[in-house]
Amino acid sequence: MPVIVAAIVTGTFAACGSDDDGASGSVSVAAAFYPIEEAARGVGGDLVEVIGITPPGQGPHDVQLEPKQVEEIVDADVVFLLGRNFQPEVEDAAGGAGDDTVVVDLLDAVDLLPVDPQLAGTQGEVDGEVLEGDVDPHVWLDPARMITMVEAMVDTLSETDPDNAGTYRTNADAYLENLVGLDAEYRTALAECESRVVVTSHRAFGYLAEQYGLRQIPIAGVSPDAEPDPRTLEAIAEEAAAEGVTTIFLEELAPPDLAETVANEIGAELSLLDPIEGLTGEQIEEGTSYATIMRENLERLVAGLGCTA
Ligand SMILES: [Zn+2]
Repeated sequence: MPVIVAAIVTGTFAACGSDDDGASGSVSVAAAFYPIEEAARGVGGDLVEVIGITPPGQGPHDVQLEPKQVEEIVDADVVFLLGRNFQPEVEDAAGGAGDDTVVVDLLDAVDLLPVDPQLAGTQGEVDGEVLEGDVDPHVWLDPARMITMVEAMVDTLSETDPDNAGTYRTNADAYLENLVGLDAEYRTALAECESRVVVTSHRAFGYLAEQYGLRQIPIAGVSPDAEPDPRTLEAIAEEAAAEGVTTIFLEELAPPDLAETVANEIGAELSLLDPIEGLTGEQIEEGTSYATIMRENLERLVAGLGCTA
C-alpha cells in the first residue's frame, strides 16, 4: 500500500533520479484531472513530469482507466487526486501502488461542505456529484481552496525532492500570484449584486458560492440532451420568481429550442458557467487555463446577477 498523506508529508522519499542533478522531469507526478494537473505543472515546472490521468475533453466524474494509465499511477513518485470516491478507478489504482509512491488526497487539505440540496420538484441525473459523507467534490472552483491545495502540493514535492524545495517554492509563488489575483477579482466584482442566487444545472458552484457570499440553487432536468420535464420547469419558474432570479446558468451551450423553452417558461435569461472538469486539447493549445475560464465565469456571474462593482 502507498503512503496516504494529508497536507503535510512526514516521510522523505528518494524520488527516481533525483540524484541526477535536478535534470528535467526527475519526479513523476500523476494528476487526477485538469485543474490539479495544471497546478502540478505550475509548482513542479521543469523538475517534474506531470501525467494527466483524465484525458483532454473528458470529465473527471466517470473516468475509466486504460491499463496503461493504471501503470502510470502505480509507477508515479507522487499521485495528486481527490478522494472519497470522486474518481473510484483512480483511487483504486493509487491504492495498488507501492510504498515508494506518495498518494495525496487534496480533499484532506481543505474544508469540505455538504452538497446543496437540489431544488424540490426538479428531476434528473446527479451521478457522481456527491462524495462519501455527502460532501461536495467541486473544491477547485473556489480560488481560495485552490490556493490551499497548491500549498499542499508544494509541501509534498518539497518532501519528496528536498534538494529542489526552493525551486518548488519559487514556482508556486508565481502560480499562486494568479490565484490570489483571481480571488481578489471575485471578491470585488461580486460585492454588490441585485441577486445573490446562482441557479445552476450542474451542482458545481457550492464552494464558490460560499466563498463569495452567494447562494447556489441546483436544479436537475435541464440539460442540453433532454427535453425538460414540465414539472421541473414549473419548479424552476416558481423559485426564480420568488428569489428575483433573472438568469439560469447551464453547464454547456444548450440548443436554441431548449434555451427558448426554458427562458420562455421562467421568464429568465440563460447563461453558461464552466465547471472546469476537463479542457479539450484545442482549448489547451489556445492557451485556455483555469484562470481564463474562471474569469469568463466571473463575467457571466456579474452579468447574470446584476453586480455593479
Ligand atoms: Zn461536477
